[in-house]
Amino acid sequence: MAPVQNKPLTKKQIDQLKNKLEEEKASLLFSGKVSSEDLGLNSTDDVNDEADAAIADYEGSHLLRFRNREVMYAKKIEKALKKIEAGEYGECTECSDTIRFERLMARPTADLCILCKEESEREESSNIFGRMSKSLGKTLDLSTGVSR
Ligand SMILES: [Zn+2]
Repeated sequence: MAPVQNKPLTKKQIDQLKNKLEEEKASLLFSGKVSSEDLGLNSTDDVNDEADAAIADYEGSHLLRFRNREVMYAKKIEKALKKIEAGEYGECTECSDTIRFERLMARPTADLCILCKEESEREESSNIFGRMSKSLGKTLDLSTGVSR
């Protein structure tokens, strides 16, 4: 595979993306879904003891799962901001090609270029299919159409 090297992001584009990331982060913090402690490395759980754990029941677990997703996202934003500081932002972690600006504007926390992202999704789905077909006792390969 010979990746086409995209043009590196300009300073202006990075600034724009940084603003976007900071806005997203601020809105997460403002919404109260994510606390600044959540972004800390050694944040302790809200659940202090078993009684509290019991209170955080089924009803809460749904909410908690949602909250965890917000926290995950906030952490991704934090990671992206650190990358900007380090001057590594916008590089695909897989092929180190520049992630397109348009993609980053839509998804500023992306750390894979669209090609690598599609590739990983294809692998994911073919892995799932691989497991399924194994359980059926036969080997089917959906990926034969994909040239490598
Ligand atoms: Zn890539």
